[in-house]
Amino acid sequence: MEVACLDLEGVLVPEIWIAFAEETGIEELRATTRDIPDYDVLMQQRLRILDEHGFTLPQIQATISKLKPLDGAVEFIDWLRERFQVVILSDTFYEFSQPLMRQLGFPTLFCHQLVADENGRVVDYVIRQKNPKRQSVLAFKSLYYRVIAAGDSYNDTTMLAEADAGILFHAPDNVIEEFPQFPAVQTFEDLKKEFVKASERDLSL
Ligand SMILES: [Mg+2]
Repeated sequence: MEVACLDLEGVLVPEIWIAFAEETGIEELRATTRDIPDYDVLMQQRLRILDEHGFTLPQIQATISKLKPLDGAVEFIDWLRERFQVVILSDTFYEFSQPLMRQLGFPTLFCHQLVADENGRVVDYVIRQKNPKRQSVLAFKSLYYRVIAAGDSYNDTTMLAEADAGILFHAPDNVIEEFPQFPAVQTFEDLKKEFVKASERDLSL
């Protein structure tokens, strides 16, 4: 059997922090794992900015509730789920993901948790485990699943490397250049073709 592991932000849905940066006009909040590969450094910076401006979790959730999956993402995930067991491996937080996951039909999601105080101030975050995307792929492989993974950014590359086949989707030029070992595609039609190519099964159902 084969499992398809997908990143969430930048692949199926917009970058949540960029959407919040646009809503608030705070340029520094635009940084993502594409810009700062060390996730802990990135999150510490985000929490500091939220704190400086007094932004709360409900304010961020209000922005997220207005977001829609990327064009073609819902159709793509439906296509994929007919052919693979699909698991989303994301560095987002369950407190953020609900409205977007509802629009995607609630596929399985492994991600992190935020800690907010009684005033809604984000005080901390709990990473599910170290190197969570790669560890999840390792776990599926230990269950004798073959893993095909797709993602767009630095935080996906260990997952892509650990998978039996890794695909870059919507990746920026710097990531594509640094990781030439992975095929890189930009449209859902081409991503489907890469999954068909990477699969050991006949997917022409
Ligand atoms: Mg991403």
